[in-house]
Amino acid sequence: MTADMNIFNQVDDSQVSNLDQLSNFEVAAIFNKYAQHNLRGNEVVNGGRGNPNWIATTARLAYSRLLEFGVTEAERTYFDPRGMAGDVQKEGIYQRLMIALKSSRRDIFLRTVIDAAISQLAIKDKDAFVYELVDGALGDHYPYPPRCLTYTEKVLQRYLQKVCFKDVQMAQDVDIFPTEGGTAAMVYIFQELHYAHVLYPGDTVVVNSSIFTPYLQIPELSEYNLRIKTVTTKRENNWQMTDEQFEQLKDPRVKAFFAVNPTNPTARAFTPERLAKFKEVIKANPDLVIITDDVYGTFSPSYQSIFAVAPHNTILVYSFSKLYGATGQRLGVVCMHHQNVCDRIIQENLQNRRLKELDERRYSIVVPDPHKMKFIDRMVADSRAIGLYHTAGLSSPQQVMMDMFALSNLKDAGLSPYVQLSREVVAARYHEFWHGLGIQPDETPENTRYYTLVDIFDLMRQRHGKEFCQYFKDNYNYLDFTYRLATEFGAVVMDATAFGAEKGNVRVSLANLEKADYRKLARAILDLVDEYYQVFKKKNKK
Ligand SMILES: *Cc1c(COP(=O)(O)O)cnc(C)c1O
Repeated sequence: MTADMNIFNQVDDSQVSNLDQLSNFEVAAIFNKYAQHNLRGNEVVNGGRGNPNWIATTARLAYSRLLEFGVTEAERTYFDPRGMAGDVQKEGIYQRLMIALKSSRRDIFLRTVIDAAISQLAIKDKDAFVYELVDGALGDHYPYPPRCLTYTEKVLQRYLQKVCFKDVQMAQDVDIFPTEGGTAAMVYIFQELHYAHVLYPGDTVVVNSSIFTPYLQIPELSEYNLRIKTVTTKRENNWQMTDEQFEQLKDPRVKAFFAVNPTNPTARAFTPERLAKFKEVIKANPDLVIITDDVYGTFSPSYQSIFAVAPHNTILVYSFSKLYGATGQRLGVVCMHHQNVCDRIIQENLQNRRLKELDERRYSIVVPDPHKMKFIDRMVADSRAIGLYHTAGLSSPQQVMMDMFALSNLKDAGLSPYVQLSREVVAARYHEFWHGLGIQPDETPENTRYYTLVDIFDLMRQRHGKEFCQYFKDNYNYLDFTYRLATEFGAVVMDATAFGAEKGNVRVSLANLEKADYRKLARAILDLVDEYYQVFKKKNKK
């Protein structure tokens, strides 16, 4: 019998508390393993995974068509049956592509999105645009310019305009750096805030909590050594920040504010009224750097990015991972306004002789005039230890894949039917789950329904009263519930305390299971609550 197997006899509290040390992602993975051999022999329902169980199809098909066309194009210049071709020629490539595209689903889609891009972005040189897509899909050249391919940047500007900025028009005023997913974007941002002396060790960063656990960990890394203060939102405020919490951001000692909007795990976008508060905040604290991760933006109909209300102070991160079911592709972006606080701080720092010399030494190997280098371009260079700046760009196939996802949205003037569908899919699961628990679901437009937090203590209180809930808190490790849920019922949820939530909260992802599974998950949660209650009742009788 392995150590793991002990758990099937009875819940061993020491083993549960050992798990306290691990991150909640690791704990959920271990619980999922336990769940495979659950006592009841139930089919496992893993509600712990944030990875969506859907994919966007048409953009992928279009990408495959570009690739196929690209090979034919390359064979026009040189062909050897042993499997070699030349490179793609730009001259006349748009026309050749249009002739090659027939009436299959993927061909029609590709033609539609290319025409949509040409008209929406007012592209004059159609050959240059199609060449970038085809050559990019083939991955035949180092991505150039290194930060972002020329037309890709225009497409992504448009996409962020539609999806994140909404009614605040500024597509032309932003720079974009495509990265290996949103998580790499965050790594590059924190690294650059440090290298560019925008943040110093000891500086205070306020984090909007609960938050994706790694985001509590990055700023604390020893090389950054930032002081983290959290502002924790509450259920009774629909997980919105309070006036008092906004007041805290006005303190000039607060150098940065870090948020996920809409949040993970609490799954709420800032309301328009709360969002407007950021205008007051930056008025009072004009040097504040705001970092916002908007990966779940499209899932809430009332979402708008903090970037839209405070563009000069905000660094925006977006990722294609969730909406398009593309976590394996690693597709994210950093977006910054042409006029931003980081560039201003860099220029102020250059008044200092020592910093100016450092700057000279650091970047003069890659650019003739280092002091003029923008924060976002420094980020690109530093992502590749400066010396490899010229090869720092995200792979061109990844950039072209992003083009296809973004254009699949832009081709429709209003709300994309695909985005609408993604909302419906998670909403249906969300309702199944909460109705299964016998609790009225939250219908506010801020709610993404991509995740949901269940307060187990509250559920206990509602079902069997205050005393029982207190008894549970006094007698069990807080991980006991999720542990038994896995080992006895084969149902996995993620403990949310590591996200910074109060004890008793568990996160259920609505992204990864079929609708009917959420009914089962709710049933297992209720049955387990009732089992604890039976023990409590017996004890009380004695
Ligand atoms: C899932 C998730 C992402 C996606 O990260 P990628 O690196 O783009 O896959 C980003 N931020 C948050 C908060 C997430 O939950």
